Amino acid sequence: MADYNSLGLTPEQEDKYIDNAFHEVLNGYLNSNHRKKVEIIKRAYAFAKEAHKGIRRHSGEPYILHPIAVAKIVSQEIGLGSTSICAALLHDVVEDTEYTVEDIEMNFGKKIAMIVDGLTKISGGIFGDKVSAQAENFRKLLLTMAEDIRVILIKMADRLHNMRTLGSMLPSKQYKIAGETLYIYAPLAHRLGLFAIKTELEDLSFKYQHPEQYEEISQKIRETEGSRGAVFKDFAAPIHEKLKEMHLKGYTMTARVKSNYSIWHKMETKHVPFEEVYDLYAVRIVFDCDADANEKAICWNIYAAITDLYNLHPSRTRDWISSPKANGYRALHLTVMGPDGNWVEVQIRSKRMDDIAERGFAAHWKYKIGESDEESELETWLKTITDLLKEPGPDAVDFLDTIKLNLYATEIIVFTPKGDMLTMPKDATVLDVAYELHSEIGSHSIAGKVNHKLVPISYKLQSGDQVEVLTSQSQTPQPEWLNYITTAKAKTRLESALKKQRKRISEKGERIVEQIIFDYSLENPNEFISKLMALFHLMTRDDLYYAIGSGTLEITENTVKSLCKKSNSLLTRIWPFSSRSKKEQTEAEADEEKLSTMKPAIDMKKTYVLRTENGVHNYRIATCCNPIPGDDVIGYVDDKQNVIVHKMDCETAMRIKSSFGNRLVATRWEESPLVTTSLATISIEGIDRMGILQELIHEISTNMAINIRKLDIEAKEGVFAATLIIRVTDASFVNRLCRQLKRIEGVKLAVRTS
Ligand code: MN
Repeated sequence: MADYNSLGLTPEQEDKYIDNAFHEVLNGYLNSNHRKKVEIIKRAYAFAKEAHKGIRRHSGEPYILHPIAVAKIVSQEIGLGSTSICAALLHDVVEDTEYTVEDIEMNFGKKIAMIVDGLTKISGGIFGDKVSAQAENFRKLLLTMAEDIRVILIKMADRLHNMRTLGSMLPSKQYKIAGETLYIYAPLAHRLGLFAIKTELEDLSFKYQHPEQYEEISQKIRETEGSRGAVFKDFAAPIHEKLKEMHLKGYTMTARVKSNYSIWHKMETKHVPFEEVYDLYAVRIVFDCDADANEKAICWNIYAAITDLYNLHPSRTRDWISSPKANGYRALHLTVMGPDGNWVEVQIRSKRMDDIAERGFAAHWKYKIGESDEESELETWLKTITDLLKEPGPDAVDFLDTIKLNLYATEIIVFTPKGDMLTMPKDATVLDVAYELHSEIGSHSIAGKVNHKLVPISYKLQSGDQVEVLTSQSQTPQPEWLNYITTAKAKTRLESALKKQRKRISEKGERIVEQIIFDYSLENPNEFISKLMALFHLMTRDDLYYAIGSGTLEITENTVKSLCKKSNSLLTRIWPFSSRSKKEQTEAEADEEKLSTMKPAIDMKKTYVLRTENGVHNYRIATCCNPIPGDDVIGYVDDKQNVIVHKMDCETAMRIKSSFGNRLVATRWEESPLVTTSLATISIEGIDRMGILQELIHEISTNMAINIRKLDIEAKEGVFAATLIIRVTDASFVNRLCRQLKRIEGVKLAVRTS
């Protein structure tokens, strides 16, 4: 259609112009496979036209041309039917005119009214003035989508038309809308499998955000067209001959140049100039076949024909037919060496696969295939979204990030021991799989077995891996696990488990404080707590309770006495704490004495050396992060001059850093030549029974000071043999570990072999 502004139409001509635009929509619909529900579409058009009468867009064109254009995209580019066409025609009526959702329902029924309502609720731009409002809108958008996918598909069409007509907006608005499109709509389109729309949205956003680079790339594509065409002709000729011999029903072979945006993206991320983007285009072969033909076999026949002609790149074959992408994409990809010595990607698909690739799930309706794999994939994705939305109180902004995480990820496929298939994002770890299976499995996971080999939970999975998660009831979720996870689901589940755990620890700390208040019969508990907070520079009660509950802070009788002295409170009863037995008390004191005899007063300006003599440490391991010798650590000096070591990146340590800077001491692990660590190999043998490996790993991992170098476990015909290599500083420790291991039921032998 020509640019409306250049037309200079009379009102009558304008009316005719609008009617023509609508008839293009109607004719396209009549040529589709959908049922012919023309009457309701005509009524929706008349209703919308009347409602928007006299209103014009920024460009000066009558407003009704926008809903018509959206209806056209919905019908012809996404492939939806009459309900969606009506909803598209009516999509701005409730928001911009006096008509209500009830009016729509009365005239067009519940379904259409519900979709229009959904569209009205999520309009106004996902990017409002406040970030949290954006996230809230996005959440709304997805929730509505979960109810009826058509809401999001029509929204996508609305956005596409607004992007196509963005030129008539003010530059400042252009920039904002383009950014929002790239951030939300393009990834969402990708995730829904709307490939053509995703590409166009990206390209349009790029064009408005970086007009000069866009023009530069367009020009270079034009300049290189001739030579590219010649190379493609050379490449394609022998393939055409082979394909003719195969007597296909029909096929097309085209060279598809990448979009401006993806070329630019590659130049930016790989830091290469245009000339060095070698996969500038891909060759696409789309063949026709009968509905009952074996598409998969045909794809592989074509694959074989091409590899007969050209050398195959060994690691770039992608079989998206046997394992379709989560967005429904199916095709067979291979990369071969072209006649000019450059690698060329070839994509092979049937017409049906091609439709799905270009138009996503909507294409299925065209084929009326009902309960297909792709639809259940979509269901799965929608369910993930719904699950995320249901998790208790996800912070709105985090939520947006988590969704983004999922939208951009590319997938790998892994298998459970039973052979169930899981689609996971690239770089997913054992821990991701654990949380994917269940929150409880995630939070209690201790290790994984990938292809039958024992691996840590942080292990990154590869497509095709078989994954088993080993769990232990005594395991608890750790904050540093956040570094090991990739999926939005795992992140949400872990964060909620950590929150619960923090709450438990705080409650424990609160009980300890209450006990102290009771034991000392403190008269003014609130004042006491405020003084504790001030003393330890903690901002909230919860921080105080948490520090005490986790053992980071210990309240000694001296602390209590000195605080109460200053406040002139009456102390009616003095230590010991009733919660501690007399025996424990003396043992603790004895330990303390032993320590103080071997360590001089701590000089905060010097690096404190962490030593172990005769099995006694001159430091304590913080229970929040459990560092092991060799980790980067920092020391916190408590009231009794004990040095408590935290991992450098421990969350609690970070908090301490900001509030108790003066109690921190630099530390390093002792490196005296007399006590250098040595490797010890322990052989373990026993009867293989359910759960024994978990128990072994648990026993080893609870001895947190062990620095495990290697653990091999082999099980065969009811017995297992394990070799454990650890780094140790003294031999007595190895003997102690062996004794503990032998206590596990079924372990027959645990002995140091070197
Ligand atoms: Mn609109």
